[in-house]
Amino acid sequence: MKKLMLSVAALAMLAACGQSTEQAQAPAVELYAMDCGRASFGDVGMFADDGSMNGQSRELVVPCYLIRHPSGDLIWDTGFPDAIAAMPGGRMEIPQMGASVTLTTTLEAQLAQLNLTPADIEFLSFSHQHGDHTGNGNLFAQSTWIADVDERNYMFSDEARTGQAFAGYSQLENAQTRLIEGDAQYDVFGDGSVTIIQTPGHTPGHTVLLVRLPNAGPVLLTGDMFHLAESRERHLVPSFNTDRAQTLASQEAVERIATETGARVIRQHVLEDFNSLPTFPAALN
Ligand SMILES: [Zn+2]
Repeated sequence: MKKLMLSVAALAMLAACGQSTEQAQAPAVELYAMDCGRASFGDVGMFADDGSMNGQSRELVVPCYLIRHPSGDLIWDTGFPDAIAAMPGGRMEIPQMGASVTLTTTLEAQLAQLNLTPADIEFLSFSHQHGDHTGNGNLFAQSTWIADVDERNYMFSDEARTGQAFAGYSQLENAQTRLIEGDAQYDVFGDGSVTIIQTPGHTPGHTVLLVRLPNAGPVLLTGDMFHLAESRERHLVPSFNTDRAQTLASQEAVERIATETGARVIRQHVLEDFNSLPTFPAALN
């Protein structure tokens, strides 16, 4: 009897060992969703080149994400420039898009709630060049910037240098940079927990981010693959995308990844998806 009890204890110990090995394999990754602005559009027709959204008004959320990993912090998209918060009413008009932008709490202030400053952030990456994603890029000029080579080339092209977004990220030209080349995915921490995936079409080097969380499972942050609640299901393509065929191929790639990994797909600008994530400073883990 004593022998049996011992072996039961041994089994329990083995089981406990197995469990702790499993826990060691899944790094304690956390995902924080921050509100980095809202954009109100009187007409979202530009987000569907088939004309199906013409005349509809909509509010889009502009998020920033912080991914905390035991080996470092990654900022994914930096929202609208923090400077908007200091403008009258925290509001700025973007007449060429027919949009009104509001920003109530700066990205810097939100990081401070976690006792972080931009200088504490090891890695920076953007889904793409547009000003609602790169607005606070310069805050992270001391971080290591992980950039798709096609997107980076576009960001410092003559055309982009004269664009409105450029001022937000201009200082990254001299930042320590890791380039994503070819068709490769980029494994940020080398353990498969945080991966940047190429999905061109909206811009020359648009990317999405796959985050594998230890409890919540895989989450796919899809940049500007799907601007509106209708975009994913109806395969809508914005009229200002750089390549329509590439966009559709990338939409298919996203669906494939979502199916293969079982990832929860977050349409970054869709309020419903943003609100489904824990309210900052709470994290998904
Ligand atoms: Zn956007």
